[in-house]
Amino acid sequence: MKPLIYNLDLPELEAICAELEQPRFRAGQIWRWLYVQRVTEWGAMRNIPGSLSTALADRFSLPAPEPLEIEGREDETRKLLISLADGECVETVMIPAVDCRTLCLSSQVGCRFHCTFCASGQDGFQRQLTSGEIVQQVILASRLWGDRPTHVVYMGVGEPFDNYEAVFKSVRTLNNADGLRIGARRITISTCGVVSGIERLAEESIQVELSVSLHASNGAVRTTLMPVNKTWPMDTLLDTCRAYTSRTRRIITFEYTLIRGVNDSEAHARELAARLKRLPCRVNLIPLSDVPEYAGKPSLPAAADLFIRTLAAHHINATLRASKGSRLRAACGQLRSGREEGRSRRSIIA
Ligand code: SAH
Repeated sequence: MKPLIYNLDLPELEAICAELEQPRFRAGQIWRWLYVQRVTEWGAMRNIPGSLSTALADRFSLPAPEPLEIEGREDETRKLLISLADGECVETVMIPAVDCRTLCLSSQVGCRFHCTFCASGQDGFQRQLTSGEIVQQVILASRLWGDRPTHVVYMGVGEPFDNYEAVFKSVRTLNNADGLRIGARRITISTCGVVSGIERLAEESIQVELSVSLHASNGAVRTTLMPVNKTWPMDTLLDTCRAYTSRTRRIITFEYTLIRGVNDSEAHARELAARLKRLPCRVNLIPLSDVPEYAGKPSLPAAADLFIRTLAAHHINATLRASKGSRLRAACGQLRSGREEGRSRRSIIA
């Protein structure tokens, strides 16, 4: 199987051009065809000599220009199912708003972390995505939108810091000033709390936004919801977050899914506020999305309201985010790797 051309960064593409005895500027031209014009056929690169595009086509693949399946109406949240060369699939969610286009990317096929309330890990872990397969999600969505996304969030299937190299290589490609030009401030990586990844991110030259899925105000509750808390306990995680904020001078967003009777009492809110004291952060409260395998219920509106008011009283900046895409099973935690039994492989354009 040929690797995707999107796996290469610009210096690697330059090295390939050198190997093929082509001038270096050809790499920049190809790069712009890939990421500015976003062509999906070698022949469409009009200023590239045929011998070069043939040589590249022999070694690298340009993926199919269409997703396998598209669900949802054009003006609403849409979910794409993208097939990969080995028959695996990934889900990507396009979230349009009045003045922005947010794309939610998957970083792995399946997930190893098994948060109890999340569908993504329920079918286990199949494999890592390559950086090219992550970038491919952006190219396909950009074609459908007719424009590149304004914001990218690594909040689809998978744990980005469990596939750090590929994820960060894709970040560099999305951010590249001669290509897609998606600003670092508009790229968010979300982690279930992989401490080693947060430490690495603090040292990167591109500073993207960091979200940490917390979902609990103490380690005991967190362990029942997120087994990762046994590997990296909440105190260690929060110490690492503190170090990250002082090293980078950036704030962290904590994701907190409110689950009725589990983590949503006033006492939980007070405990959370105490834990986050003097940590430069904001808290994003998310209504629990329905997942068949998880029996928990979303918090009642009065409890959510009291929770957010308690945080505010302790000077914690918190917002309750509206869930998008639940009709399509495209909301937070509802994405899978596209292997559901009996799933239709037809193209559905609703
Ligand atoms: N593995 C990363 C990326 C996934 S992001 C992470 O855990 O952060 C998806 C976000 O949706 C995470 O905050 C996750 O905890 C949250 N989530 C998962 N299942 C959910 C559900 N059923 N309802 C609401 N949010 C959920």
